[in-house]
Amino acid sequence: MSASSFSSFPLARKIIVAIDGPAGAGKSTIARHLARHFNLLNLETGAMYRAFALKALRADIPLQDSQRLEALAAETVIRLEPGEEDNRVLLDGEDVTGLIRNQMVTDAASQVSVWPAIRAWLVSLQQRMGAEGGVVMEGRDIGTVVFPHAEVKIFLDAAPEVRGLRRYDQVAQLGPAPAIQPEEVIRDLRARDERDRNRADSPLKPASDAVLLDSTHLTLDEVVAAAEAIVTAKLAQLHHDGGVGHAS
Ligand code: C5P
Repeated sequence: MSASSFSSFPLARKIIVAIDGPAGAGKSTIARHLARHFNLLNLETGAMYRAFALKALRADIPLQDSQRLEALAAETVIRLEPGEEDNRVLLDGEDVTGLIRNQMVTDAASQVSVWPAIRAWLVSLQQRMGAEGGVVMEGRDIGTVVFPHAEVKIFLDAAPEVRGLRRYDQVAQLGPAPAIQPEEVIRDLRARDERDRNRADSPLKPASDAVLLDSTHLTLDEVVAAAEAIVTAKLAQLHHDGGVGHAS
């Protein structure tokens, strides 16, 4: 059976595909593609940490002050609305989709995400969003913490230099030459990686049953094809076994 014939197969509505990996590994691109191909909702959890970071910056709360951040979280409503291509991100009802990708928010998101109370709050929201299945969820801890029983787990990685250069190219394509140099982008990625991998709560690491996909020497088309093949193989196995285990 071909991949596309599985995309209309009812099981595809129910599975959870977890995509984790460091910044710049291409998770969003792959998640978007898989969602489209297998008719799944695409939920990008990093956007939730980013939205909360924006609120903390606006409120001028030091990112080291976990108690004030926790109090701020208690009065914050974050919603992800999956669209055709990307997610719309609502912060207390305000559409902040276009405001959370700059360097300041990126750095702040990486800092607020170390705090257990902030993680617990957002993880529980993410679990509710994905409870029905039929989703691709992308982040750092989806296969390990948010959905440890996800049917498909992919850990997408690439060498830091390659991730940094890809990120730099993306920024460069958006407009005139970026003020920032490629070396700075790579340095920033390494700093975020360090923080993600070494935090006490839910550090970034592959789940023991994740498929590792290293895109260092692959083209985008090759990574997409590999990811698609991983999901297709799992769907075939589930079809053969007669069902999808419930995920949460
Ligand atoms: O994926 P993205 O770069 O948008 O994520 C922003 C930040 O949020 C990351 O640097 C990471 O520290 C944090 N994050 C996380 N857990 C997730 C998703 C993102 O800690 N599931």
